[in-house]
Amino acid sequence: MRVTKQREIILEQLKTHKDHPSADIIYDEVRGVLSNISLGTVYRNLEWLVAKNLAQKINIGCSKARFDADISMHAHFRCIKCDAVEDVDAVFGFDLIKDKDWMQERLLKGASLEFYGICGSCLAKEGADETC
Ligand SMILES: [Zn+2]
Ligand SMILES: [Zn+2]
Repeated sequence: MRVTKQREIILEQLKTHKDHPSADIIYDEVRGVLSNISLGTVYRNLEWLVAKNLAQKINIGCSKARFDADISMHAHFRCIKCDAVEDVDAVFGFDLIKDKDWMQERLLKGASLEFYGICGSCLAKEGADETC
């Protein structure tokens, strides 16, 4: 199978996610279609998509890198209990930086904003008696 076809399938699979999967989740899902593909190849394809600005890699406090087909600048929320990563509807961008001279001297390419805490479903499981 052509490499471009592999990447297409991997990108399409990533686009079905709103939960920012890690490479091994995508690997599990595309194995059926892309027989003989390895986790390493899936990872390299995801990295390629990131380099081409077709996907973004989220390196927040999770143990594994997470991927997002939504390349717009947006904030994320990470659950410190279950590692769930959700989009946050927040307005943020380079205008958060107050020093405009500092910005002029640099070429900014992106930004990330991470909120963290306990997600709704973990909160529901824990009950109200947990203190964090
Ligand atoms: Zn959670
Ligand atoms: Zn996202």
